[in-house]
Amino acid sequence: MPLDEEKTQKVKEYLDDNAGNFSCPICDSNNWQIGDMVSPPNMNSKGQINMGGDSLPLVEVICNKCYHVEFFAAKPMGVLD
Ligand SMILES: [Zn+2]
Repeated sequence: MPLDEEKTQKVKEYLDDNAGNFSCPICDSNNWQIGDMVSPPNMNSKGQINMGGDSLPLVEVICNKCYHVEFFAAKPMGVLD
């Protein structure tokens, strides 16, 4: 789900307050863009996707140089309705 402008700003403020001016672990750039909110599929013990199970919403933070993607939990950022 794409984040609207207000939620994107919340993510930026959260990262400024809690992660500072962090660098990309791949290319060492500190130029990031905020991506979408996503949720990886939950799996059962057999490795099958558990449709409708609990999920962990994540926000993509994408390096503008090498496009490495970091994920941060969305809930503490206050971007869930
Ligand atoms: Zn990078």
